[in-house]
Amino acid sequence: MSNVDATDYHVAAVRAQFPIFEREVNGQPLHYLDSAATSQTPRAVLDAIADHEMHHRANVMRSIHRLAEEATEAFENARGQVAKFLNAASAQEVVFTSGTTGAINLVAYAFGSTLQTGDEIVISQVEHHSNLVPWQMVRDRHGVTLKVLPATLEGAVDLTALAEIVTPRTRLIAVTHGSNVSGAKTPVVPVVEAARAVGAKVLLDGAQRTPHGPVDVQALGVDFYAFSSHKTFGPNGVGVLWGRADALDTLPPFLGGGEMIRTVTMEETIYADPPHRFEAGTPPIAQAVGLGAALTWLGAQDLAGAAQHERRLTGRLIDGLGDIDNNRGLVRLIGPRELNDRLPVVSFAVDGLHPHDICQLLDGHGVALRGGHHCAQPLMDFFGLTGTTRASVALYNDDSDVDAFLSGLDAAIDLLTP
Ligand code: PMP
Repeated sequence: MSNVDATDYHVAAVRAQFPIFEREVNGQPLHYLDSAATSQTPRAVLDAIADHEMHHRANVMRSIHRLAEEATEAFENARGQVAKFLNAASAQEVVFTSGTTGAINLVAYAFGSTLQTGDEIVISQVEHHSNLVPWQMVRDRHGVTLKVLPATLEGAVDLTALAEIVTPRTRLIAVTHGSNVSGAKTPVVPVVEAARAVGAKVLLDGAQRTPHGPVDVQALGVDFYAFSSHKTFGPNGVGVLWGRADALDTLPPFLGGGEMIRTVTMEETIYADPPHRFEAGTPPIAQAVGLGAALTWLGAQDLAGAAQHERRLTGRLIDGLGDIDNNRGLVRLIGPRELNDRLPVVSFAVDGLHPHDICQLLDGHGVALRGGHHCAQPLMDFFGLTGTTRASVALYNDDSDVDAFLSGLDAAIDLLTP
């Protein structure tokens, strides 16, 4: 499984750009395997944020003075950087939100308000609560029917059910581009084909996908794409909703307030065009600048090498878990066995052990993991688990992180099992 060719990817040079790795945790080097929750941030991004705050801080699109013009230019430049990373047709298709959750809630509220009783929205059992709860709210508000694509045994979206679940009443299919629990990637072509056949739109939750290389929204052929800056080497507090121009044009606004208007009288408001129609109030300006810097930084990395490197480390994690399992018969791996079908997100359960106990013991080895239901309780129910432990890999991880994880887990299981 881990027979992936060695690459000349220079992980040490990448890692050296992340100041966080200069610190220790519990007297150990930091082995950060929780990037699926929040990634770390390179110096280039921290510098871009500091430079903006120190030299160009002002509100955007409001005042007529030098700093305000510079801040507006920096903010709109960041929009262009996001558009470039996504290969969007235009920067005007990029809406800054508070994150993936904010982006999906925007579509749920705005698109949801155009729906009628009897219309159908399709999601899946694999979804993060961020791509599930907003649609339940739409269902309850507008009498829309929510239909659910089941999960496969490997925790992927079961696309064989598309033909049965998608109907002429389907208005939107909203699914993950890659699971934060199983790591399973969703093949997008069948989803888009099924949607197009009935005139429905497609939204992808890209939260776990964007940290792992370029995304081409035009090639994907979807209508909406959501992701978070803080998982993609940028600051928190900002994220993106990309929407195809025609999809955004027909959407009513979500929040009302400053910036999203053309004219306001006491009687009525004429709304601005996208993307500003969807950016009410002062946006997260320095954060957007940081996200733009992060995506530019990411785009300049050896992404093919990074992907291969991440795959190799993921293979090592999976093989190592298998070895521990062979010795004890306790470890259950969640997710696809085929490395090409998954993101570098590895969840597992150990019989009789609580994920939080595993995480706590591994923290003593300097290893940062995540344990719990990962905001995907319906998927946990499907697996018959209350939670899993998750190790997730980013382009700055190296073999020492995998070694520390595997030896720490071995020791933890020894300690915790009779
Ligand atoms: N979707 C997926 C697949 C995720 O992994 C996450 C974050 N765990 C989210 C949505 C929500 O992202 P955020 O909290 O940044 O809005």
